[in-house]
Amino acid sequence: MTRPKHVVIGGAGIIGLCCAHYLRARGHEVSVLERAPEDRDGCSFGNAGMIVPSHFIPLAAPGMTKLALKWMFDSKSPFYVRPRLSAELISWGLRFMRAATQAHVDRAAPLLSELSLASRALYGELSALGDDDFGLTQRGLLMLCRSDDTLHEEAKIIARARELGVPAELCSPARAAELDPGVRMAIAGAVYFPLDCHLTPLRLMAKLLRLTKAAGVKFRWSTEITGWRAEHHRLAAALTATGEIAADEFVLAGGSWSPATVRALGLKLPLQAGKGYSVTVAGPRQLPQLCSIFTEARVAVTPMDGALRIGGTMELSGLDESIQRERVAGITESVPRYFPDFTAEDFRDLPVWRGLRPCAPDGLPYLGRFARYENLCAATGHAMMGLSLGPITGQLVAQLLSGEKPAINLSAFAPDRFN
Ligand SMILES: Cc1cc2nc3c(=O)[nH]c(=O)nc-3n(C[C@H](O)[C@H](O)[C@H](O)COP(=O)(O)OP(=O)(O)OC[C@H]3O[C@@H](n4cnc5c(N)ncnc54)[C@H](O)[C@@H]3O)c2cc1C
Repeated sequence: MTRPKHVVIGGAGIIGLCCAHYLRARGHEVSVLERAPEDRDGCSFGNAGMIVPSHFIPLAAPGMTKLALKWMFDSKSPFYVRPRLSAELISWGLRFMRAATQAHVDRAAPLLSELSLASRALYGELSALGDDDFGLTQRGLLMLCRSDDTLHEEAKIIARARELGVPAELCSPARAAELDPGVRMAIAGAVYFPLDCHLTPLRLMAKLLRLTKAAGVKFRWSTEITGWRAEHHRLAAALTATGEIAADEFVLAGGSWSPATVRALGLKLPLQAGKGYSVTVAGPRQLPQLCSIFTEARVAVTPMDGALRIGGTMELSGLDESIQRERVAGITESVPRYFPDFTAEDFRDLPVWRGLRPCAPDGLPYLGRFARYENLCAATGHAMMGLSLGPITGQLVAQLLSGEKPAINLSAFAPDRFN
C-alpha cells in the first residue's frame, strides 16, 4: 500500500459514505464535502432498499428504446423523458440507443453480477460491525408477473442467472405464496432470487455516518465543490465558498450533480438524472416478508421496519426535483393489481419522497480515475443500483487510491469510456 493520503470526497450519499468508510479503514485521512446540510434527504434515503444480484441486465437492453417511446405518451407509465432541447440529453439518448444491444447485455451482465455479489458479501460484514443494525434481511426477492407472457419472458433469464452464480427459481402462484405468506398475490407466477436482500436505507445511512465519524472522517456539511485548482495533470484543491481544500486525491461521488461538478475541468461525463418516487405506508393491511418487483408495472415493494415502501418510475427531466402526482399515481395504482387486498385509498395523502438516480447511458457505473487528471476518481452513475453497489464501490475506490490492484477489473467502468 502507498503512504496514507488526504482524500477529499465530493458527496455524502451512499457512494460517498462507502468510499469514506473503506478509505479510512486503509488509514487515509478523509474529508467529505457535502453541499446539503447533515439532515439531507437525497436519493440514498427514500429508495427501495434492495440489494439486487438479480439485476444483472442493464437498463440499456434490446427493446428498451421501443418500450420507452411507447411509454412516453402515458402519463402513468414507468418511464418518461420530458421533451426538451438539451444537447446533453440528446447525446445521452443516442448513446443509450447504441448500447441497447444483445452484445452489450452479454458484456455487461457478468460485470454487474460480479459487482453485486461482492457488494452483497460486504453488506454482511457491515451489518455485523457494531450493534446498530440496518434491517438487513437476506430472504430473497420475488419478480411477480401478472401475465403468462411476462412470466415466460422472465423465466428466460433463469438459465443465464445461474451461469452467473445467481440462483433463480421459477415459481407457481402456490410456491410464491409459500415463500411469502405475508401477502395475498394475484399473479400468474414469479421468479424467485434467493440471494437478493433488503434493508432500511435510512438506518444504513445513519450507521455509515456513525462508523465513519467514529473512525475520524471529517464532514463539511452545506459545502459545495464549486470548482477546482488544477496543476497540469493533477488537481491541487477543491474550491468551495469558504475557501479551498487541498488534498492528494479527489473522489467524485456527487450522484446526479457529478457532471456539473467537473464541467469546469473540461470533463464530459454523460449522465442523466432518473427521477423516481416512493411512498411508505406505516401500518399496511398486509406485510410481505420478502421484497418484490411488480414486473409489468416496474414497481418495487419492500417491507421496512413494519412499514411497506412502494417505489418506481424513471423520469428523465433534468435536475428538476418537483413531484408529478400523475406518475406517483401510476405507482400506487399498480398495488391492488398485484396485492388485491390493498386499495388505492391505502396510499392517498401519503407524503411522497423523490430521488434522482445518476444514470449512465450504458447502465454501467463510472468507477476509476479520469485520464486527464490522475488524482481524480469517479464513483457515480449507479442508476437503479447505487444502494446495492455502494460497499463494493467504496472498497474498489479504496484499493485503487491505495495503490493496490482492484479486486475487480475496472476497465469497463472507465469514466472516459465515451470520449
Ligand atoms: C425510487 C427509487 C428506488 C430505488 N431503489 C433502489 C434499490 O432498491 N436498490 C438500489 O441499489 N438502488 C436503488 N435506487 C438507486 C439509489 O438510490 C441510487 O443509485 C443511489 O442513492 C445513488 O447514490 P449516490 O451516492 O451516487 O448519489 P446521491 O445519493 O444523490 O448522493 C450524492 C450527493 O452528492 C452531493 N453533491 C452533489 N454535487 C456536489 C458538489 N458539487 N459538492 C458537494 N456535494 C455534492 C449531493 O448533495 C448528494 O448528497 C433507487 C432510487 C430511486 C429514486
